[in-house]
Amino acid sequence: MIIKKNIVIKNNSKLTTTFQINSFIYEQLFWEKPHFMQLTKLFSILIISSLFLVGCSNDDDITAIDANKQPLGSRNSSNNLLSDLNFKGLTIEIVSVQGFEPTITAINEFRTFLENRLFKPNGITINQRSVASSNLAPFNIEEIKNIETTNRVQFNDGDEITVYIYFADGSNEKDTNTKVTLGTAYLNTSIVIYEKTLRALSNRPNSPMLSSIETATLNHEFAHLLGLVNIGTPLQSQHEDTISKGHCNVKNCLMEAAIEFESGMMDILGSGIPKLDPLCIADLRANGGK
Ligand SMILES: [Zn+2]
Ligand SMILES: [Zn+2]
Repeated sequence: MIIKKNIVIKNNSKLTTTFQINSFIYEQLFWEKPHFMQLTKLFSILIISSLFLVGCSNDDDITAIDANKQPLGSRNSSNNLLSDLNFKGLTIEIVSVQGFEPTITAINEFRTFLENRLFKPNGITINQRSVASSNLAPFNIEEIKNIETTNRVQFNDGDEITVYIYFADGSNEKDTNTKVTLGTAYLNTSIVIYEKTLRALSNRPNSPMLSSIETATLNHEFAHLLGLVNIGTPLQSQHEDTISKGHCNVKNCLMEAAIEFESGMMDILGSGIPKLDPLCIADLRANGGK
């Protein structure tokens, strides 16, 4: 029960970003292997979980869906996204609710971000399509998962790895008047962007452009899939935020925890779209990235 308590304490703190990511990992792990609960460090859990997963099934035999829909940081997926060792190309399936599609500018900048960090000699393909509303807003992560089950059609195939990104027509149900969530990386190749929330922010006086908010959110959430910070990609130096796990303690780094939320995003975007700092980039390079 120690783990549960630890994580619940984090959940109750102001750092809801930790909740967004870690609670889901926790739920997955708990379901898969309850006796791991005695472990006290999230990183240990991630490592052991992925060993367990690999150990109990031959990777060559698993179905593509099994390889994609896994807890964040598991199944070597960060290295698989960063390097060309197992996957030479990347296909990103962007599914948007009609009327909530991302801007072209954001997609172009997101592509550049990925090209600068990933070794994918076969290229990065971004497929976009629009779907009808689920009418489920505001969302919890279970609902977002179910929407993925309905909509996602592309999974790892041969040497092509796939990522699914959903642009939602609503907000996260845990949003409050003072703190809203912009996006969540909720499985190893799955992201949700709360596009309706992003648009509401960009419509305020003196706000950054929508495309800037979209780019920063996309890049931040994708960097979680790449294993930052210390969730699948090992630290090369100690720059993990000790309070908000999975984030970087370097000011104005793309992986600062604050960026996932309205107030932090607005501060950080004041000086342009945030970039990964050298410590985060060093981690990615050590795990097969550029
Ligand atoms: Zn984050
Ligand atoms: Zn950083």
